[in-house]
Amino acid sequence: MTTAITEAAGRLAAISSAMDRAARLTGRKGGDISLIAVSKMQEAEAIRPLIEAGQRVFGENRVQEAQAKWPALRGEYPGIALHLVGQLQSNKAAEAVALFDAIHSLDRPSLLAALAKAMDAAGRRVPCYIQVNIGAEEQKGGCAIADTPALIAAARQADIPLLGLMCVPPAQGEPAPYFALLARMAREEGLERLSMGMSGDFETAIMLGATDIRVGTALFGERPAA
Ligand SMILES: *Cc1c(COP(=O)(O)O)cnc(C)c1O
Repeated sequence: MTTAITEAAGRLAAISSAMDRAARLTGRKGGDISLIAVSKMQEAEAIRPLIEAGQRVFGENRVQEAQAKWPALRGEYPGIALHLVGQLQSNKAAEAVALFDAIHSLDRPSLLAALAKAMDAAGRRVPCYIQVNIGAEEQKGGCAIADTPALIAAARQADIPLLGLMCVPPAQGEPAPYFALLARMAREEGLERLSMGMSGDFETAIMLGATDIRVGTALFGERPAA
């Protein structure tokens, strides 16, 4: 366990200095950027060393998996913030509102309605990001670029706390133009936060304005097979 903590601390330190470098290139501070450790598919045993090393913000992409892992870990360690970074089905909205501290995948009016209803019922407002299908990919989640302003307006209307925009650029090719486009959309809508950048491209994302990066592999190593 001690070796595992030392290793986790080393990975955290490496990411943190890379964040710092990228931030400073554009006149920002690494400390102003939030690192979300994406722990999907990782067992509690793999997550614990990272918590022991000081990480407190984690991301999961499935409600059920998060429900199975996190209540116990949260019982052991105070001050954990849990973000949902994966697709959300409307029928899981209530469970997501109960479990997560932020939702990065609000991408359609039906989900917005389900979340608003769940938040009202729970008496708990969970901050959200609108996920934009920035590469207009057929198979991918996210709101179409053209539909995003209307979804933002609807979220504001429904009193859903809206932090910013989120995207996952196409796996192939250069991500920078997509990050730049998302940043411009957020600016035009007066939204402050940008959830963008993963293990392979978080430095580019930071240079283009990311406020929240979602890093899995670079912190945990390769994910175990399903
Ligand atoms: C898995 C995942 C990540 C982390 O990806 P890595 O390449 O392992 O850093 C980030 N965002 C989302 C939405 C994911 O599903």
